[in-house]
Amino acid sequence: MNKEEAITILNTRMILECPCSLRETALQAVPGDGAADADIMFVGEAPGKNEDEQGKPFVGAAGKFLAEMLATINLKREDIYITNVVKYRPPENRDPLPEEINACMPWLHEQIKIIQPKVIVTLGRHAMEHFIPGKKISEVHGQAFRRTFDDIGEQVFFALYHPAAALYNGGMRQTLIEDFKKIPRVIEKLRKS
Ligand code: URA
Repeated sequence: MNKEEAITILNTRMILECPCSLRETALQAVPGDGAADADIMFVGEAPGKNEDEQGKPFVGAAGKFLAEMLATINLKREDIYITNVVKYRPPENRDPLPEEINACMPWLHEQIKIIQPKVIVTLGRHAMEHFIPGKKISEVHGQAFRRTFDDIGEQVFFALYHPAAALYNGGMRQTLIEDFKKIPRVIEKLRKS
């Protein structure tokens, strides 16, 4: 079975089995989108209104900004895999609760196991906190970390500010654009090592 088939089977199964209570209020699950054999996997926080309606991650303003940044490093959305920590929209776009993050986390870990990306880019503090715990995003954005987990093994994580947070904050926006440009160098280094 190739990665594309494996991710389709996983997402189909988890749509039925995910125990997250946000299923009760969301319109549908937003499993993830993009290339299952991607070198880079992006992990955001949770779907918003547009994502909830379309069943796809990052299709609103934050997604448009992300696509612009991808273009600066010669990548298209189809070249990466993109998903969220939480697969269902929290009501009124509130922050996801720890129990919602925990309920959805096995799904994300299974996606990582299949995709085996070279680097996992965390967007915002919720995605960062799970994989690079105990750090402040203001201190670690634009840096790569190696971390090992029992089920997914050793992975490389690269922390970025969330595009939705940076969109309307001039300073943060510029920082995110600069940090984004470091991604090819991180991958190049990993290829050599
Ligand atoms: N913000 C996120 O974190 N994820 C999305 O899918 C959309 C906006």
